[in-house]
Amino acid sequence: MILTPCAVEIPGAVQTIEEQTMRVRITRPKTAGTLILVAWLLCTFAAAQSGPHVAYTVSLTSPVQHLVEVQITLPPGLAVRELQLPVWNALYQIRDFAQFVNWIHATDRSGKAVPIRALNTSLWQIEDASEGATVTYQIYLDSQGPFGVQFNPHHAFLNLAQVLMYPVDARYSPISLRFTGVPADWHIATPLKAANDEFLAENYDRLVDSPVEIGTFQESDFEEAGARFRVIFDADSADYDAAKIVSDLHKIVSAAISWMNDRPFDTYVFFYHFPHGPAGGGMEHAYSTAIELNAESIERSLYPLTAVTAHEFFHLWNVKRIRPRTLEPVDYTKENYTRALWFSEGVTSTAEEIIQFRGGLLEEKQFLAQLGDEITELERRPAHLTQSAEESSLEAWLEGSAYYRRPERSISYYNKGELLGVILDLALRDASHGHASLREVLQWMNANYAQKHRYFDDSNGVREGAEAVSHADFGWFFTKYVAGTGEIPWDEFFRSVGLHVETTTSTVPDPGFIASRNFDGPMSVAAVTPGGEAEHAGLQVGDTIVELQGKSAGQESRQQISRLNPGDALSVKVRGRRGGERELKWKVGSRQELSYEVKDLAQITPEQRARRAAWLKGEAQTDSPAESSSK
Ligand SMILES: [Zn+2]
Repeated sequence: MILTPCAVEIPGAVQTIEEQTMRVRITRPKTAGTLILVAWLLCTFAAAQSGPHVAYTVSLTSPVQHLVEVQITLPPGLAVRELQLPVWNALYQIRDFAQFVNWIHATDRSGKAVPIRALNTSLWQIEDASEGATVTYQIYLDSQGPFGVQFNPHHAFLNLAQVLMYPVDARYSPISLRFTGVPADWHIATPLKAANDEFLAENYDRLVDSPVEIGTFQESDFEEAGARFRVIFDADSADYDAAKIVSDLHKIVSAAISWMNDRPFDTYVFFYHFPHGPAGGGMEHAYSTAIELNAESIERSLYPLTAVTAHEFFHLWNVKRIRPRTLEPVDYTKENYTRALWFSEGVTSTAEEIIQFRGGLLEEKQFLAQLGDEITELERRPAHLTQSAEESSLEAWLEGSAYYRRPERSISYYNKGELLGVILDLALRDASHGHASLREVLQWMNANYAQKHRYFDDSNGVREGAEAVSHADFGWFFTKYVAGTGEIPWDEFFRSVGLHVETTTSTVPDPGFIASRNFDGPMSVAAVTPGGEAEHAGLQVGDTIVELQGKSAGQESRQQISRLNPGDALSVKVRGRRGGERELKWKVGSRQELSYEVKDLAQITPEQRARRAAWLKGEAQTDSPAESSSK
């Protein structure tokens, strides 16, 4: 996922958090024996689909009230069966989707009611089901965005794990899915295989890794690198330029595919939503991604769109196929703890930059400026000395808490992970005289794990790949910077590419508080500077910010605050924890702030120039550095 800009928190800023997913693999027949393999696959698939399978029907019953009815037809089997609705999906947060289930009942094949009862809030048990049974329930769907599930008069966008229960004894059985009550002018888009009026999936995991858009969307398809790409836009056509977006998508997918030297799919779907108002984020899937961006934000520049798209697209390898062992099999009933998100998310952000550079969507100057911003974000958070990248990964499940998001409490595994990807890349080049890089590690992990249908052993698996491609010991790197909280000596890593880090101190406005928001929640005050003006005015931790300078608090609040100067009057309307709104006014203060910039060294050798050129493109140096430098 990406929570738009990954977990960023600046004074008075709005912070969001990202997402997550499931897995899937495909078998690609090779030339010899292709016919046999294809025939075998067809037989297996046909047998699977005509044999006992779980059939879902989703009826779009009441768009105004956001209600659908789900019918699950279970094949004959055990007399007593259990049905589970996931407690989490997409985001690493327990969200208990069962809270939206209004009622549930069950019948046998003749239509006679059979007993069904809840075993816990998300698990139901039915009896007398040996001949098969039908379970029906009504569920409310009104959570916007790529991590949510929404049905309204405009459209339906479904992350199916938030809608569909699975039979615990048949999670790996084949599945069919139908929709009824779809308005005549609505269409359905999903990466699921279509067959007549149904969609098919090998099992529940694959089903719920396939989002569904139903509505009056526009579609712009294209082909690149031998694959078909579907681009689904659910947006006002006046708000975007499909041709320009598709032109950038060509660049992104071809840069990523050439960088990985792999294309493990035939068809891939981009779902875009461009609402007016709060939006932001992307959610990866094995054969698709769902991305939501504020319509105004992409009018000014497509950079937010290309950045999140490059990130989510790269996830089709990193996390969907190059997958940590700790996320498999997915446990839908509770938190799934992993120490690998610094790699699965953070290094995906490293790749996002490289892909954009390779695709011509980012220049060196922007690349380095972005890198400086990431270093600044990490260094400004005091928790970089107390929470490691692995701990930040493990504690992702706490990100819904405003306290946890405080700079003294946590760092972002996106932020530190992206930087670890950068310095690992540089260290690999140093250790191998330019012959090995991050690209070789990712390709090695793709060949040795993803393509062999194996999962890697979290950070140890990454270290294994780094050591295999560089023939050097990388224990020091993982001990100090991945498992540990050692200060990163930036200049040592950047020297070989002729760069160093410069710090500048500036006086910046200080509103006296920090606000943050969960992915879809309101802006709430996470910290108030002790003894500061905001505290004197009566602002309290836990207050919800309703208005800022007379405007509803929202996406623009961050910019509004950044435009203030020390001494300016700040007026805020807040709602307290116990209700009741208060109007507070105070004067913006100031404080000293350190910024980090990645700059050229005073003297740059031809070797350093050659190493930098290779590093920016994400490529190893085939020639000796001196020979390959031409400038
Ligand atoms: Zn991500």
